[in-house]
Amino acid sequence: MVKKIPPNYMLKLLIKEAVKERKIIHSQVDLAKIVLRKLRKKDRGYVVSPFRVKRLALEIPQIEVKIKTKRVPKPKRIRKCPVCQSKVRPVKIKNLVGKMVTVAYKCEKCGFEGTKESFLPYEYIFIWKG
Ligand SMILES: [Zn+2]
Repeated sequence: MVKKIPPNYMLKLLIKEAVKERKIIHSQVDLAKIVLRKLRKKDRGYVVSPFRVKRLALEIPQIEVKIKTKRVPKPKRIRKCPVCQSKVRPVKIKNLVGKMVTVAYKCEKCGFEGTKESFLPYEYIFIWKG
């Protein structure tokens, strides 16, 4: 069977439909599964990754994407945004001895912001705002 890549507009439509039906979806894998089911009703060859579904969901104004973060004991240097995979900018402030320290990271593209400790998300939540 030939694999087919669905176009963005089609995916966005189905993502909207999925989140609207459920009102809230608790993970990007769940959302991708529902969208894929809908796609395969149109054509069994369609494929889509959870990452792409999530990235497109972020562009839909009626959907709010939230992230549940987990705290990790020793955070590593953060380079990429967990939401859109863009480069993140460290937010630095001076400490008491005048040294610049990184206290958080911010993504310029999607606006995701987190402290070092909270920057490693483990799940996304999609909420229908209507
Ligand atoms: Zn981002």
